[in-house]
Amino acid sequence: MSETYLNCIGGEWVESQSGETFANVNPADTGEVVGRFQASTAADARAAIEAAAEAAPAWRRTPAPKRGEILAAAARIIERDLDDIAEGLTREEGKTLPEAKGETARAVQIFDYFAQEGRRLSGETTPSEFERTLLYTVKEPLGVVGIITPWNFPVAIPAWKIAPALVAGNAVVFKPASNAPLTALRVVKALEEAGLPAGVLNFVTGSGASVGAELAANPEVRGISFTGSDTVGGRLYGEVTGRGAKCQCEMGGKNPIVVMEDADLDQAVSLTINGAMWSTGQKCTATSRAIVHREVLDEFTGKLVAGVEEIKVGNGLEEGVQVGPSIDEDQLNTVLEYIEIGKQEGAKLLAGGRRLTEPPLDKGYFVAPTVFGDVTNDMRIAREEIFGPVVGIIAAADFEEALAIANDTRFGLSASICTRDVHRAMEFADRIEAGMVHINSPTVGAEVQVPFGGMKDSSTGTREQGRVAVDFYTETKTVYFEY
Ligand code: NAP
Repeated sequence: MSETYLNCIGGEWVESQSGETFANVNPADTGEVVGRFQASTAADARAAIEAAAEAAPAWRRTPAPKRGEILAAAARIIERDLDDIAEGLTREEGKTLPEAKGETARAVQIFDYFAQEGRRLSGETTPSEFERTLLYTVKEPLGVVGIITPWNFPVAIPAWKIAPALVAGNAVVFKPASNAPLTALRVVKALEEAGLPAGVLNFVTGSGASVGAELAANPEVRGISFTGSDTVGGRLYGEVTGRGAKCQCEMGGKNPIVVMEDADLDQAVSLTINGAMWSTGQKCTATSRAIVHREVLDEFTGKLVAGVEEIKVGNGLEEGVQVGPSIDEDQLNTVLEYIEIGKQEGAKLLAGGRRLTEPPLDKGYFVAPTVFGDVTNDMRIAREEIFGPVVGIIAAADFEEALAIANDTRFGLSASICTRDVHRAMEFADRIEAGMVHINSPTVGAEVQVPFGGMKDSSTGTREQGRVAVDFYTETKTVYFEY
């Protein structure tokens, strides 16, 4: 029997008013229910919002360095429980255990970094036009904020939203993705154990349509930070900003890696495999287009296909496995459909291209890592986010054409170039339309101390992570003090 987990509202662990739960299933072994979670209603979300509103004033008055100390204590708890949290993450999300450990370690760094932000939450003092006047700014919390997260980074993304929200003095209602609520719950438990006062962080599981929609609509919620698909994010942004609240949406990508003729090709192949295949391609920053100079196209393609065919797919808990399953049946079918679309569009299937069903893979949602050649940038597989282990190779005649193809997308999250030419690298950094640029490094990866986010349809609102992260969770007040 799997364990049933509760919501946390006002410091109490409670059942949903619906009296119903839903199953959190292991995508590598669908016979395993990792846990049952509360199928919460809009009324549960309202109760959590009220609890947050009640806790907000005292939390706001708590000095920011003290708020930071609680985050630092949570970091130590997550560090202590890292192996256990990571194992749960692999069971519910499917990524490999080393990836899950890496992500959990990142959450530790995030809490440590934002703990220190409690000592840096400064405004500015500026000269006034008037005599004997002190003119300064302070950052104030929004009040109650809603945090809505996806399943693909179930510990890092909640951490990088919750930590700046809390250190800035907000009370939070957190709705995790229904596909990976267990790891999210561990973050909440760590903060509870670290001494976070009751009601400052409320945890409500359940569907986006009920819990998420209430957070979006409720006037008490002064900001929503969302990461997920652009379909949901686009609608949410309109609704939340339409009622005058703040909304930050981090959404999809169609991230290119440009491989120039002077690149170290072995490195370029390794970066492409890293970006496209690890975490089953289920990263917003995943590489989905390899734009390759014609002079090295054949050599790059041969090396990439050879590398991809060696990838070991399986249950992420097993040693040596490099790629786990798709998160659920819908996502599996989406990936398989895009593979069919690619074939119909005339792309050449060079590796993978099918569901893996040899036992024990028949128990999960596994797809063979897939490479398409002869892709053109007008094909749907080059334009739409697939969110699976699929990469398309697009030929380019020269740097200008490669750059034009890279920018010919409605997304603008991350982009990479492989070249030894420093001038071209800088030219790429200047002209690529992406929020994050990598030179001889993969499109994926995010260090906590720098901003994370995209341009164009990939993001709205201010950036996450780095010092700017608190900007979303605060308002600036300007004070004129004539003495
Ligand atoms: P999703 O379907 O958009 O869901 C994201 C979150 O929104 C989930 O918690 C979901 O709840 C909730 N939600 C669904 N409908 C809602 C509604 N009407 N109102 C409010 N909330 C609602 O995305 P996903 O499939 O979990 O995640 C994959 C997507 O996330 C990809 O597009 C990926 O690129 C993107 N992503 C972006 C970044 C970034 O930083 N740019 C990082 C990681 C992932 P349920 O789980 O209950 O449906």
